[in-house]
Amino acid sequence: MIGSGRFSARLIVPGDGPPIEQGVLAVTDGIITDVFAGPDTEAIPLGNVILLPGMVNAHTHLEFSTCTTPLPAENGMAAWIGDVVAARLLQADRGDSIRHGLDELVTAGTAAVGEIATADWPASRLTDTDPACVVFREIIGLRSDRRTDGLATARDFLAGDPTPRHLLGLSPHAPYSVHPDLFMDLVRMAATHDVPLATHLAESPDELELLDTGGGPMRERLEALGAWENSAIPHGSRPLDYLRPLSELSHPLVIHGNLLGEEELIWLGRHRHVTIVYCPRTHSHFGHPPHPWARLLDSGTPVALGTDGRASNPDLSLWNELQFLARRTPSRPAKDMLAMATLTAATALGLEGQLGTLSPGKEATSLGIALPADSPVTLEAILKSGHPAGVLRQGNWYPA
Ligand SMILES: [Zn+2]
Repeated sequence: MIGSGRFSARLIVPGDGPPIEQGVLAVTDGIITDVFAGPDTEAIPLGNVILLPGMVNAHTHLEFSTCTTPLPAENGMAAWIGDVVAARLLQADRGDSIRHGLDELVTAGTAAVGEIATADWPASRLTDTDPACVVFREIIGLRSDRRTDGLATARDFLAGDPTPRHLLGLSPHAPYSVHPDLFMDLVRMAATHDVPLATHLAESPDELELLDTGGGPMRERLEALGAWENSAIPHGSRPLDYLRPLSELSHPLVIHGNLLGEEELIWLGRHRHVTIVYCPRTHSHFGHPPHPWARLLDSGTPVALGTDGRASNPDLSLWNELQFLARRTPSRPAKDMLAMATLTAATALGLEGQLGTLSPGKEATSLGIALPADSPVTLEAILKSGHPAGVLRQGNWYPA
């Protein structure tokens, strides 16, 4: 249901200007028409609530949304992938799992999501009040004989009809699972169709070892899956080889980037339309070395936040992701971290015209946060000590 009305809150953090005390959000048919300082005695009072822009979760795999706990990762990425493949085989109904994940995203105040899709993504089960879904069709194929099928799958997917709730993109999965030639084909296809492209890169030591030497645990995993081809990846390959082609795209997203090296960081600083998607709790789950997100921000590279899927994260709440990061990074301005969860992620997905800030003309989807009674009302305190109090979704308020 799309709603209208005026809503008053203790504080509105619009995301594109200073916070507004006793703020009022005016909404018509689910779209913000005005944001102003009250009091407004005729507005619907939301009480002691701080309104933040709706969360934009830049990376999910909703097919794993019925996982109750993340799959163990202490043996590294290659071993974890084996468990993921096994979990997928046991899955009863992928569509139900994705729908379950969408419901969780709605409850978590998610305005939009960058979702990686394998086969049969249930677009027909989306409703008007779901998050805007930028669905990246995942393509896998390291062996040369998979190239034709991979391209056909991508082409068929992009021939589908996008809607405002279901937008299309491509995801060549990762350097260890996509032949370099197929990777280039898919980048060209994304450029031709001008759609976003997301690829996992510099995620794990296993990946970097495979690129450099052609060996290690990732090769063993790929051989076990029947996916390995000896000549596919030239020895001495590095993440930079997969970054360079992205320069021609309008909306490239690099997922994780946990182990980006000096040369990649410099390249990214010169190509500031490439967004890194950092998934803090998944990063922590794997025990990776510190992520270079703060340095990336300092050099002008956009960094967005994602939860990743429930195979590596306990839930799909981007607010929990943001709070996890804020509590561990007291030195970073809170507004930088809020932007990673809102406007930067919306921009990466090409949705900055509709989402990402609480501004006139944009969708009236907002996460309401409450603070402990003795807390100062600063953005730093909100991120560290706040807890969800409800969600304003397209002009309707749903208390938590
Ligand atoms: Zn992923």
